Amino acid sequence: MIVVQSIEEARINISAVRKKDAVISFVPTMGALHNGHLSLIRKAKSESSFCVMSIFVNRIQFNDTSDFDKYPRDYDHDLALAEIAGCDMVFLPDDTIMYHDHHTFVIPEFLDEHLCGAARPGHFRGVCTVVTKLFNIIQPDIAFFGQKDIQQAIILKKMAIDLNIPVEIVIAPIVRENDGLAMSSRNVHLSPDQRKRSVSLFGALRRAEELIKSGEQSSSLIEREAREFITREGIPDRIDYISIVDMHTLHPVDTIRGKCVLALAVFFGATRLIDNMIIDMETSPQCVY
Ligand code: AMP
Repeated sequence: MIVVQSIEEARINISAVRKKDAVISFVPTMGALHNGHLSLIRKAKSESSFCVMSIFVNRIQFNDTSDFDKYPRDYDHDLALAEIAGCDMVFLPDDTIMYHDHHTFVIPEFLDEHLCGAARPGHFRGVCTVVTKLFNIIQPDIAFFGQKDIQQAIILKKMAIDLNIPVEIVIAPIVRENDGLAMSSRNVHLSPDQRKRSVSLFGALRRAEELIKSGEQSSSLIEREAREFITREGIPDRIDYISIVDMHTLHPVDTIRGKCVLALAVFFGATRLIDNMIIDMETSPQCVY
């Protein structure tokens, strides 16, 4: 596995691989790798001949500086895991390499008006800017993003279309702990008690699935049930949002039709966890979480 830090080195390696007609896949991450990230690498590797992962904690997507400061970082461990998962090259730039004298940003519209876009002003400007830069540096054929961050994946898919970036974007399933908690680099910040209570997010998705499969289509009723479930079972410090949105517009819907997403963001102490479920009503109701 090649590890490169500079943009020049990344470009030299990528153009050498390109000459061999390789299919290049790309998995952008912020490090602190867990099985969710590794599943993306494995999937990327199985669908390409050369898999690149980036590890970069992108300061400009954090609207809370203490969240950025305490974001877990363990690059040696990450590199060892990435290599075992089959990654061929890791791009590991620093802040100076990515943002030296930087004044140009990519700002999404419309799709960021709800969910994390509303709760974290500027977050998707940071995400779209860094991913555009990374796409321009790596020039992948396929890029893999997790359903875990569904709004991010949908915004980036649309960004690639709107800005004519020649990359196929694949959204991969959420990898969960045995008890259902979605894996996240932030889970290490949970106390043992918060960790137990955090399973309520998955419980709320299951409760919503039950209601949907029994024929319920009212978003407000399902959202209320999910909220009551998390409040009762999780005793969270704050519920940031619980919302059912249309999967294409990411705007709230009154009635569940077509493809929707039930998305939630909940604080346990200072740790903000997100989770979601795709609801597909196109044939018989299917829930993917
Ligand atoms: P992050 O390092 O948190 O920016 O995540 C990097 C990529 O991994 C993003 O595309 C995430 O959606 C994805 N990811 C994070 N957690 C999971 C998970 N539990 N299952 C699948 N993909 C994930």
